[in-house]
Amino acid sequence: MDLTVLHMETTVCDLCGSPEAEHFAQPADYLLERLDSRALLVRCLRCGLVYQSPRPTPAEIGAHYPPTYDLYDDYRATTRRGLLRVAYNYGMRKRTRYVTRHVAGGRLLDVGCAAGVFLVSMRELGGWEVEGVELDAATAAYARDTYSLRVHAGTLETAKLPAASFDAITMWDVLEHMHHPTHSLREARRLLRPGGVLVARVPNLASWDARLFGESWAGLDAPRHLTVYTPQTLQAVLEAAGFVVDAWDTAIGSYPVFLLSVRYMQVAQQVAAARRRRTQRLLQHPAARLATAPLFAVPSLLGRGPLLVMTARAA
Ligand SMILES: [Zn+2]
Repeated sequence: MDLTVLHMETTVCDLCGSPEAEHFAQPADYLLERLDSRALLVRCLRCGLVYQSPRPTPAEIGAHYPPTYDLYDDYRATTRRGLLRVAYNYGMRKRTRYVTRHVAGGRLLDVGCAAGVFLVSMRELGGWEVEGVELDAATAAYARDTYSLRVHAGTLETAKLPAASFDAITMWDVLEHMHHPTHSLREARRLLRPGGVLVARVPNLASWDARLFGESWAGLDAPRHLTVYTPQTLQAVLEAAGFVVDAWDTAIGSYPVFLLSVRYMQVAQQVAAARRRRTQRLLQHPAARLATAPLFAVPSLLGRGPLLVMTARAA
């Protein structure tokens, strides 16, 4: 597709509404290896939120996603055995605990549920009635057909779900993709019963990885990530939408984000594809992962890991 014909929109800060912003970064699209296509990230001069402007419109952002973006998330289908499957299962169990340490059971909605693997993990715990929303219609149909899940195709707003009908809402890696995150969070707030819990995970701009990799840090993932949060700006966005923040940490997912950042850095440096694959194979080896585990534990514990998980309650 010829990207030069795509429409871009200039936007103001989604958090405070200010149009005043300074240049922050100009990363290329390293996922699709479009080095000549640079996104412009700016930082709000009033509240510090980092966002893309100009940015692709909601109608045209799809042109910036690879065709398999959501479906490759189905590790249950693609990784049937081996150490990698064990690692995936372990990661998914860690995710479920962010919910169960706050709410013992009830109705759960996963926004941006992709192939539905998190919903399946929650359902397997017992005591949970689960439901999803997925923007991509084909992926929503896949989740319905493969795992017999109740999944609405579209946005959280178009699903038109009843007020105060959920005990927990999760948003794994979705807020950074939304054009109007505070609007969608207000809708999530409406759907939660009083005291219900929201769990949101986003890339952490205050991470050591972000500093180390700069514009090729995977958390920027331009132009797909429209907003990039620090713990401070995510808390402010949640509070603006009517939530009270309970806790946050950066204790999950460091290694996969590191691997992706290494890949993006090598794409930026125009390293040959075969050599990039060798690097990934080397870093994915269990021995490499074990040897480097202590290095990744330190930033995670200090709140400087690359993925930020924040838990909040409907105020
Ligand atoms: Zn602002």
